[in-house]
Amino acid sequence: MRAVVFTGPGEPLRVEELTLAAPKAGEVRVRLVGAGVCHSDLHVYKGDWNHKTPLVLGHEGAGVVTAVGPGVTRPRVGDHVILSWMPACGECRFCAAGKPQLCQTAMNAVGTDAMFDGTTRLSRADGAPVYHYLSTAAFAEETVVPAAGAIAIRDDAPLEKVSIVGCAVATGFGAVVNTAEMEWGSTVAVIGCGAVGLSAIQGAKLCAATRIVAVDVLPAKLEAAQAFGATDVVDASRDDPVAAVRELTGGGVDYVFECIGLAETCEQAAAMLAFGGTAVVVGQPKAGTRPSYDALLLSCYEQRVIGSNYGSVRPTVDFPKLVDLYMDGRLMIDELITGHRPLSEAQEAFEDLIAGRAVRTVLDCGR
Ligand code: ZN
Ligand code: ZN
Repeated sequence: MRAVVFTGPGEPLRVEELTLAAPKAGEVRVRLVGAGVCHSDLHVYKGDWNHKTPLVLGHEGAGVVTAVGPGVTRPRVGDHVILSWMPACGECRFCAAGKPQLCQTAMNAVGTDAMFDGTTRLSRADGAPVYHYLSTAAFAEETVVPAAGAIAIRDDAPLEKVSIVGCAVATGFGAVVNTAEMEWGSTVAVIGCGAVGLSAIQGAKLCAATRIVAVDVLPAKLEAAQAFGATDVVDASRDDPVAAVRELTGGGVDYVFECIGLAETCEQAAAMLAFGGTAVVVGQPKAGTRPSYDALLLSCYEQRVIGSNYGSVRPTVDFPKLVDLYMDGRLMIDELITGHRPLSEAQEAFEDLIAGRAVRTVLDCGR
């Protein structure tokens, strides 16, 4: 079984032949079709976050279930699935409260890059363990994941396309509809127009935002933002984004979705708000990122700065609905995918992401 193995920051990614053990109780084996290359993978690759090595990267993918471990009733062998990197246990207090994105069991497991029992199913020929990034390990021909991390969907959806529902689309769209519960008719700014930001723009459009101001520093991304539903664009490489958004919207917006994860853009997000507005930090910052706010402005104007993990997504409920919207032609996914590459070109896919040449590259896991 071939997989892309990360051995440490700055070291080249290599495709290795690994052994994948059979799924244990509560786990399933998936033959992957497509896996999106996300900024979170890039954070690990650059050394921004600590993870165990050797590690198979990738946490956004889709495929077909080929085997299930003892006790698994869902999904079934043959089901088409989208992977979720927050395999909720269904039993902890957050799951019971309908917040699977905060599942304590899943948080612990994905933080160890292993299965729920702390062991890995991946190993090298000498038996040494290889870790599963976010318990997912999608940059591979096949993977084993907790059953709750493989969400069954309709089988007529193209898996190489809907693979990116599992992170980018769910994160951006969910931040608007689930985390912020945006009211229709709101005014919105989206900072950062990569795959997550463009998905947030689509969420805002489908929920009838009246103004959607896209902010980025790359003209190509601003052009894409307009195709996805932005009503206005601000090139932050030329104009002060805070002043521009405030001027365009007559004093600030009701919601800002920060989709980059930098201290500076988090601060800009808060400064763009109208009275009573909400800034949502969607981008995943480097550990230790500390934006600062004038707390008096927050209290005087009842503004809020909140975080969104994984778009507060409930994968079992939301993934099939997002796929339905896509299949009905109401959610743009094909347009988010700017290229396909084989597993052997994962390194090049990261370089495209760093250079801003790609919105989303999907690795074709079978080649
Ligand atoms: Zn839970
Ligand atoms: Zn991701």
